[in-house]
Amino acid sequence: MNLKKILKDQFGYKKFRDNQEDIIKSILDGQDVFAAMPTGGGKSICYQLPSIVFDGLTIVVSPLVALMKDQVDEAVENGLNAAFINSSLTADEASTIYSELYRGNIKLLYLSPERLSLDGYYEKLQGLPVKFFAVDEAHCLSEWGHDFRPDYLNLSKIKKYFPGTPVAAFTATATKQVQTDIIKLLKLKKPLIVRASFNRPELFYRVEQKNKSLEQITAFIKDHEGQAGIVYRTSRKDVEKTAEYLVSKGIRARAYHAGLPQAERRKTQEKFNKDEIDVICATIAFGMGINKLNIRFVIHGDLPRSMEGYYQETGRAGRDGMESHCLLLYSGGDMMKIQYHIDNMQNPAEKEKAVANLRRMSSFASVNVCRRKQILEYFDEDADERCGFCDICTDKIEKVNASVDAQKLMSAVLRTGERFGVVHVIDVVTGADTEKIRKFGHNKLKTYGAGTDKPKKWWRGVIDDLIRQDAVFQDAESYNAIKLKPKGREILFGREAFFIIKKEAANVKNTAKLLDSLDARNYDEKLYDMLKEFRNSLAAAKNVPSYVVFSDKSLKDMCIVKPLDNSSFLRVHGVGEKKMSDYGPLFIPKIREYLGY
Ligand code: ADP
Ligand code: MG
Ligand code: ZN
Repeated sequence: MNLKKILKDQFGYKKFRDNQEDIIKSILDGQDVFAAMPTGGGKSICYQLPSIVFDGLTIVVSPLVALMKDQVDEAVENGLNAAFINSSLTADEASTIYSELYRGNIKLLYLSPERLSLDGYYEKLQGLPVKFFAVDEAHCLSEWGHDFRPDYLNLSKIKKYFPGTPVAAFTATATKQVQTDIIKLLKLKKPLIVRASFNRPELFYRVEQKNKSLEQITAFIKDHEGQAGIVYRTSRKDVEKTAEYLVSKGIRARAYHAGLPQAERRKTQEKFNKDEIDVICATIAFGMGINKLNIRFVIHGDLPRSMEGYYQETGRAGRDGMESHCLLLYSGGDMMKIQYHIDNMQNPAEKEKAVANLRRMSSFASVNVCRRKQILEYFDEDADERCGFCDICTDKIEKVNASVDAQKLMSAVLRTGERFGVVHVIDVVTGADTEKIRKFGHNKLKTYGAGTDKPKKWWRGVIDDLIRQDAVFQDAESYNAIKLKPKGREILFGREAFFIIKKEAANVKNTAKLLDSLDARNYDEKLYDMLKEFRNSLAAAKNVPSYVVFSDKSLKDMCIVKPLDNSSFLRVHGVGEKKMSDYGPLFIPKIREYLGY
């Protein structure tokens, strides 16, 4: 069987991505599969393509009702006989689909897990020629995952009712614990296990010290004017504040969090999918359901709670494989807030996990090691020392030895009994004349005024760096008093040097070497803008997300290929037989007209 031909004819792609072909072959051979592949890795095709080959029905279990319609629209646009059944359908609509199913007119059925929890539903499915089950977002089965869905546990009955039918599980979660859970709960038999690399070469990672978050966020977005992006904030209040601020600066932004009415949230997501707004400010409630391909940036306005969360959230950018940017803003205050939250946790096991997550996350943000290397190491993957596509690898870095100043500060900390906060410690070192200093007699200390040669701002920076490098900490239990940690003592007694890292951003474009070949190529931007507008209007008329008609990547390729007839239109990335016959007659005349034919 010529799988490559099916890939081109149906999906318009010339080559399989890593692992896709192996997975598809195993499924067609009747073998179970477990596949962990990153977001944008191309999991859908791994079950959609077999559904075309199988003489019967493929069932895809997918957790998000809101997303199912988009997924089915996308498949139908590629000429697949797909449908969905979930709670959003009326009884009439559902019964129409059942009769189509019994007539054999549907080959790919998306099903919500709730259906499978209904009494007798498996028996009902047994009346259909089911050839294959795909479980998408399979990490929802695991309590170790971040999106556990009790309904998913019913999927363990698949093997009871369909013992000989292949089952394939897909997830973008990389942890081994989740993998073990999924294989066990689905009772997969000798599955092909695929663990793709979790590297996302198209993502540029940057971490910045947070000072004025709203201004920093706005400046970043202004650099990405007109592109789609997400700003994550921890609290709902900050989400709203950020959205308001961005709107006041002329950016098409909206807020999204679980406290807003569902209808409003849906509307916001729809507008985002149709490129009618550019930026969504959200809590992590805006998550798994994001299928949009052309998200060009993800900003974290606050430190995320875990590397896994950070990875999944940043991973929503660049699903089309094109260059995208991730910015993380981070401050000592963020760490304290999370620490405060952890201190209030009851369950000791959870608490321990949260502490480990926080430690890992803040080390990611503060140490001077390639960000990509740190991410990949978190997933137990080997990585090069330098990736050439993160701030650490590309910024001009100046290392300043600040050991003596650090010693001055920490000696002031010790001599004042580790009982005072940042402001007072700096006052001591800079020889300020405050009431508090007089009251405690701190003007008699040896370190009093030892740092009058430098401004307060400098000392503030040194303390921030000492906190970030884990040399001192702010003790939330005693009014944020600064206290020394073991590493701080090493520095204080001259056994370890202390460096402050100063950075200056380089021009990233010049260093981008890992990118998709399409990304690097020149194209006619005027034609592109025109086609994009045309695509958006077609999508709006059909009431589907714009990527369902064509991805930005397809449009870019159209501007390179400049197809003037059907056969050249078929060469465009993402154009299969169905899209050629549906859209060729619409797009080709536009392109001809533009070129003056
Ligand atoms: P995920 O693994 O996150 O579910 P998708 O299946 O949604 O990813 O795929 C992400 C994008 O990559 C989609 O636009 C899809 O059509 C595209 N894609 C998948 N396989 C290929 C391929 N072999 N060549 C080019 N693009 C592909
Ligand atoms: Mg997917
Ligand atoms: Zn790097």
